[in-house]
Amino acid sequence: MASSSQEVPAAARKLEGKVAVITGGASGIGACTARLFVKHGARVVVADIQDELGASLCAELGPENSSYVHCDVSDEADVAGAVDHAVARFGGLDVMLNNAGISGEMCFSIRDGAKEELERVLAVNVVGPFLGTKHAARVMVPARRGCIISTSSLVSAVGGAGPHAYTTSKHALVGLMKNAAAELGRHGIRVNCVAPAAVATSIAPPGIGGVDVDALMEAAANLKGVGLKVDDVAAAMLFLASDDARYVSGQNLLVDGGFSVVNPSLG
Ligand code: NAD
Repeated sequence: MASSSQEVPAAARKLEGKVAVITGGASGIGACTARLFVKHGARVVVADIQDELGASLCAELGPENSSYVHCDVSDEADVAGAVDHAVARFGGLDVMLNNAGISGEMCFSIRDGAKEELERVLAVNVVGPFLGTKHAARVMVPARRGCIISTSSLVSAVGGAGPHAYTTSKHALVGLMKNAAAELGRHGIRVNCVAPAAVATSIAPPGIGGVDVDALMEAAANLKGVGLKVDDVAAAMLFLASDDARYVSGQNLLVDGGFSVVNPSLG
């Protein structure tokens, strides 16, 4: 049965009539956010390279609420095509969610790092959001409205918590977001990031890189026993996409249970 905006009462819907493109929307955080956005009245273009998964999600959401497009975010023609598809199919673009990302190899030492691996990670995690922001702005600036969100990471805010190529890419993404926020604000467009801590998806199964993520989070976070879920990340996306955040721009919203501010010596 198609997921329906009827599940959220009309008065409580945060994205009624809005159109969103979600890259990396076929699984994990992107898919969870697509479901939440549709419940809140949005129509969503799911843009991914996992065609079967993306098409099956859109079948679940219903053709009136969603549409799948193949889109490799490192390919400018694909990204431009996803944006144009949203306009052609649903009549505009209100929310661009640059969410596609890869963790790359679990290489934690810069001395073992390979230039090619860094370039591979940057192509998806930085060039992807660059292209998404650029082509969203192409549509949003003339419309004088819109909101762009990119999925960064806890490792955009701290060092020593992730593979070095991935960490580098997520810090770069925050710089890209800040410059875009400064430029596009005068056109009425908000630009932000959501920065989740480790959460169980295909990118970060429990035990990533030999690290027991749950144990690490439990030990270091100040929200003992809560545990981050993809729904928590999707809720942050919904907040930033909605008018509740109408004066929030240029921010890297950490959804990390306080991990990034805890002094480990507090034990
Ligand atoms: P995921 O692997 O479930 O989802 C990533 C999606 O991106 C997949 O559907 C994949 O097919 C797609 N993708 C990969 N390369 C692509 C490309 N070149 N073009 C288009 N799509 C592509 O993982 P996730 O955890 O949902 O990841 C979503 C975002 O969240 C990523 O940017 C990731 O870096 C970020 N993030 C994840 C975590 C975590 O612990 N899961 C923590 C912080 C940030």
